Amino acid sequence: MGLGTVAPMRIPITRPVFDEADLEAIRQPLLNGWVVQGPHVQAFEGKVAAYTGARHAVAVTSCTTGLHLALAALGVQACDEVVVPAFTWISTANVVEHLGARAVFCDVSLETFNVDVERMAAAITPRTKALTPVHLFGLPAEMDAVLALAKDRGLFVVEDAACGLGARFHGRHVGTLGDLGAFSFHPRKAVTTGEGGMVTTADDARGDLLRCLRDHGASRSDLQRHGNKAAFLLSDYDHLGYNYRMTDLQGALGSTQMDKLEWVQTHRTARARRYDDVLSPLSGWLSTPRVPAGVEHSYQSYVCLFRPETPTLANVDRLYDLRNRLMLRLEERGVATRQGTHAAAHLGYYREKYGIRPEHFPNAWMAERLSLTLPLYPQMTDAEQDFVVEQLETAWREVR
Ligand SMILES: *Cc1c(COP(=O)(O)O)cnc(C)c1O
Repeated sequence: MGLGTVAPMRIPITRPVFDEADLEAIRQPLLNGWVVQGPHVQAFEGKVAAYTGARHAVAVTSCTTGLHLALAALGVQACDEVVVPAFTWISTANVVEHLGARAVFCDVSLETFNVDVERMAAAITPRTKALTPVHLFGLPAEMDAVLALAKDRGLFVVEDAACGLGARFHGRHVGTLGDLGAFSFHPRKAVTTGEGGMVTTADDARGDLLRCLRDHGASRSDLQRHGNKAAFLLSDYDHLGYNYRMTDLQGALGSTQMDKLEWVQTHRTARARRYDDVLSPLSGWLSTPRVPAGVEHSYQSYVCLFRPETPTLANVDRLYDLRNRLMLRLEERGVATRQGTHAAAHLGYYREKYGIRPEHFPNAWMAERLSLTLPLYPQMTDAEQDFVVEQLETAWREVR
C-alpha cells in the first residue's frame, strides 16, 4: 500500500464474539467423549433459565425446531390454525404448516415492525389454537394486549423470541410471558452456538413433554439413564417424537457464550443508543427503531425504515428501487446492510397456497421493501460507527 493511502474500511452486518474460553469449552466434550445431550447441554439450559427467569429451558437444534416442538407440545394438528405475523422469518409460519395446520397471517405495524394486535384479533376463527407473537429484531411485542386477547379467546401463546435474548417487557424477560417461548443461537443473534435453540416454559408437565419430544419421544433421557443402574435398558416411547437434540459441543459453547451475554448486551445497547443520536439529522428520510415505554429492546438487529416520503402501496415500488440503490452504494463503500427480514406471507409458498396479494398485508409488504438493517456488533468502535453514518449520508446524496 502506498504512502498516504488508508486501508479501506469494511463493516460487516454483524460479528460473533468468540474467545479462548469458547475454544477451551468445545475441547471438553471431545476430551470426555460425551458429545450429545449430556452435562454441557444441561449446564447451558441452566444458564438460559437463570438469565431469563424461565422455570424450564429445553435445548434444541434451532429456534425453528424449538417452535415446531412448542406447537407440537400444545397438540397443534391438522385443521387447527395458528395466527402468525406477516412480517417475520419464514420459519415462524413453516412450523405451523409442518404440523398440518394452517398459518393464518396478520399484518404488522410499520412503526415497530411487530404484530398489530387488532389485526391479530381479526384473524382469529373457531379453528384458531394459538397465537405466535414475534419479538422482531429484539423489540418486545405488545404482550399485555396479546395475552389479554389469548385469555379472552381461550388460545395458547407461543412467543417467537428468536431475537429476544436480553429483551424485557415491563421487567419480564420475553419468552417467559406466554405458554412457551423459543430462542435462537444462530450466528446472527446476540450469542451463538452455530445452530441452536432453546424452548422455555413455566409448566412442569409441558417441560417434561418438550424433553421427551426432542428425544424421539423417549420417556427417559440419556442423562437419566446414565445415572441409573439398569442403564442398558431403553426407554418406552409413548409419543411421536423428533430428533432435535443439541450436541454437547454446542452446549459447552452456549455456556461460555452466555457468560458473555451481559457484556454483549451492554455494548450492543450502547451502540444502538449512539446510532439513535448520530442518525437523528437523517430523520427526514430514515426512521430509527422506535422503543415504546416500558420495554427493553435487545437490538438483535438495528433496523431502520427508509421513508423519504410516507410509504403507500402506490409509491412503494419506487421507494424500494431507491432503497436498493442506496444499499448497493453502501456495499460499494464498504458498509454491509440488509433488509430487516422477509414478509413471510408474501413469499412464494404462502402467496401461491393462499392467494396472498400485497394489499392483504400492506405493512408487511412495505416493511420488507423499505427496512434497512445497519451494522451492529458489540466490538464496534466509534470510528467504525461514524464511518457507517458518513457513508449513509454520502450514498444518499448520490442516489436521491
Ligand atoms: C432467526 C429467527 C428464527 C429462526 O431461528 P433459527 O435458530 O435459525 O432456526 C425464527 N424467527 C425469527 C423471528 C428469527 O429472527
